[in-house]
Amino acid sequence: MKKRGSLIVISGPSGAGKSTLISKARTCMPELEFSISCTTRAPRPGEIDGREYFFISEEEFSRRESAGEFLESAGVFAHRYGTLKSQVMERLGAGHTVVLDIDVQGALSIRRACGLDPELAACASFILIAPPDPETLEKRLRSRASDSEEQILRRLACARRELSHFRSYDFLIVNDDLDSAANELLCVLRALASRVSLITEEIYS
Ligand code: 5GP
Repeated sequence: MKKRGSLIVISGPSGAGKSTLISKARTCMPELEFSISCTTRAPRPGEIDGREYFFISEEEFSRRESAGEFLESAGVFAHRYGTLKSQVMERLGAGHTVVLDIDVQGALSIRRACGLDPELAACASFILIAPPDPETLEKRLRSRASDSEEQILRRLACARRELSHFRSYDFLIVNDDLDSAANELLCVLRALASRVSLITEEIYS
């Protein structure tokens, strides 16, 4: 059966547990291909250029942006992030499943692009990972102990803003209990592979 690749966009505010859930899904579904984004932020200890991100300068980011190399880009907490078309389009064309772990602004911009591009709309799905409630989110952010009070308040305000866009997503996974949220994410990811919109031939005619 001829199929187009599937583009899966996953967002979630910091403290929602997105990274943990994504890494569990990654282990269980090695066929998922993660797009590596460009960022202007500095690498954290243990991060390697070309593995977590392509770490580039502001100038290089602007140059790539002007050259039209990004499928989407956004400013997140004073740094710039962008999804390279070269990480996504060819793999989709080859029928692979490509996952983007991007913020809500980026997801909304891909959602808008779907309105103009039926091919993209046929393959894109949007998943939002949310904390169970604001109190739990605040507790999680405070327990990290790496952020200042100002950063915590900024992250909380940002989370509220991001979650208000939940209706732009196809799936909402509330991360109350880690194991059940991880299972729910896996179920959604597996179900997405069966979408009729991915089939590009008239198989039963
Ligand atoms: P971090 O710097 O902690 O790795 O990521 C910060 C935020 O930037 C996360 O929410 C992550 O999903 C988002 N992000 C990472 N890459 C991209 C990208 O290419 N585009 C957008 N819009 N957001 C991104």
